[in-house]
Amino acid sequence: MTAAQTGAIAAPRGKATGWREWRHWPDDLARLWRRSLRFRIVLVTLALTAAAVLVACVWMALVIQRDLFDSRQTQVLTDARRATVAAQETLDNAAVQGGDTVQLQSLMNSVRAILIQQSSTDMIAAFRVDRTATQAPQDFAVGGFDESLITAGMRAAVRTNSEPQWWQSVGLAGPDGGTIPGIVVGQQLVLPDVGAYELYFAYDLASADQTLGFIQGILWVVGIGLVVLIGAIAWFVLRSVTTPIGEAAETSARLAAGELTVRLPVHGEDELATLGRSFNAMADSIESQIKELADLSLVQQRFVSDVSHELRTPLTTIRLAADMINDQRDDFDPATARAAELLNAQVQRFETLLTDLLEISRYDAGSVQLELEPTSLAHLAEDVIASMHQLAEQHGTDVRLVAPGGYSPVDMDPRRIRRIVRNLLGNAIEHGERRPIVVTVDSDQQAVALGVRDFGLGMRPAETEHVFDRFWRADPSRTRTIGGTGLGLSIALGDARLHGGELAVWSEPGRGSNFVLTLPRGTAPLTGSSPIRLEPADETQDEFGRTQPIEVTTASTPPRSVADAPERASGRGGATSARGGKP
Ligand code: ADP
Repeated sequence: MTAAQTGAIAAPRGKATGWREWRHWPDDLARLWRRSLRFRIVLVTLALTAAAVLVACVWMALVIQRDLFDSRQTQVLTDARRATVAAQETLDNAAVQGGDTVQLQSLMNSVRAILIQQSSTDMIAAFRVDRTATQAPQDFAVGGFDESLITAGMRAAVRTNSEPQWWQSVGLAGPDGGTIPGIVVGQQLVLPDVGAYELYFAYDLASADQTLGFIQGILWVVGIGLVVLIGAIAWFVLRSVTTPIGEAAETSARLAAGELTVRLPVHGEDELATLGRSFNAMADSIESQIKELADLSLVQQRFVSDVSHELRTPLTTIRLAADMINDQRDDFDPATARAAELLNAQVQRFETLLTDLLEISRYDAGSVQLELEPTSLAHLAEDVIASMHQLAEQHGTDVRLVAPGGYSPVDMDPRRIRRIVRNLLGNAIEHGERRPIVVTVDSDQQAVALGVRDFGLGMRPAETEHVFDRFWRADPSRTRTIGGTGLGLSIALGDARLHGGELAVWSEPGRGSNFVLTLPRGTAPLTGSSPIRLEPADETQDEFGRTQPIEVTTASTPPRSVADAPERASGRGGATSARGGKP
């Protein structure tokens, strides 16, 4: 990811930027969903409340709608019945001669007036049931009654049944050209001696519809308000819980990062206060224990450092005396000569141990300073191999160098890196079971690396875990010829880390071990994989034999200054081998 990209993600987004970066919204929301308990719970609460409110509102709207319709229907049926009864009474009481068309027509006109007067609608129509009765008064339709509103089924029902009322829902023409809901009620009106009429009243339900719309509007407003209110309440309630949890998380992270003095603020006596108190008690205990351990460790470090320093002077004298006695061992009898030899070897070992201990105590005191200079790792490896040629020869081991890269100088402390390589190579020779050892040097843009691969004893995973521990040895019963102290790899790891690099190990019993040292080219910390593979592919020691053995420097040759070594022309693809002859 480029710096610019990182900046774009890390920078807090302003309002305008936020709107413009709408493509990031799904990712941002998904991240918020994963990371914020408050956001998640509020969203779930909102969704569930909205669903519940929606169901409640729809149900209420339906119930109210049905209720409004039922009451309006009852009202219009009663209204139509009352008007019809009044009209029928008038017709029944009128003494009009059956054949007098003029009188019948005027009676019908007065009946029409009564109907309009008695009913609450002015959309009324009457049609003769028997259209052949010629003396019967004319059909009429007032108030804009549209005959096509009545379905054939309803007309047939009204025509054939004299008694009950019939009704049906219709769509009436509205004032603005639209349709408004309505009801048509139909029944018979009988003109004595002349015949029956189908009588229809049309009522509009606009007022009921308006009431329903109004109620529905209110239900929506109340529902949305309720959802928002519940969401806001959930947000505030959760804030009172998640804020202390967030504080606790942040404080424990700071505690874990080493800020031992941080504590949680405690208010009240509720569960959160109990959590805070327990956390603070735990932090107190950790702080005091770590302080105790740190004090103890300081005392130990001082002790090791002081003892090592104190031992140095007498040891130098002992060393001189041992050297002198050893030089004259040819003059001694065989037993004394052997004792002199042993004394010399153990004094040497003691000296190595003391040097290592002093180095370790310097690490513990944090007083190690790197002396950086541009150094070619490939040439450094060549020098170390050459300097250990004799040891390899004694063990009958071939040490081969495969260096496709790593020639260009990189800033490092050559003394410390040489010590790491010497230690890795020494271990490989010691545990390599006389099989060839392959030292690989390679590099990429970020790092240079050196691998030491042997095909010897190897270690079990449980042993590999401890390989960098101080004073740890895989198996004390293993034959020791070089006489290590068990501090070598721990110092090597310290040196690698001081460079910002790393030292990794792969090992398998019977397949050997591979130690890989990786150093960064610059000051930037290491990222990504090492130029040298830690876990070897299934190669065998013989495959490495493809590299042509050549004689390079011998152990007695003074090592060349690797810092000044020229970069090889080809850079990559070179493979050399320093060979220790078999006895
Ligand atoms: P020492 O001075 O004993 O070599 P080190 O710290 O260098 O101490 O190594 C610790 C132990 O790790 C060794 O004693 C050995 O048992 C094990 N070890 C190190 N390198 C290898 C290797 N290449 N193969 C097998 N075992 C190894």
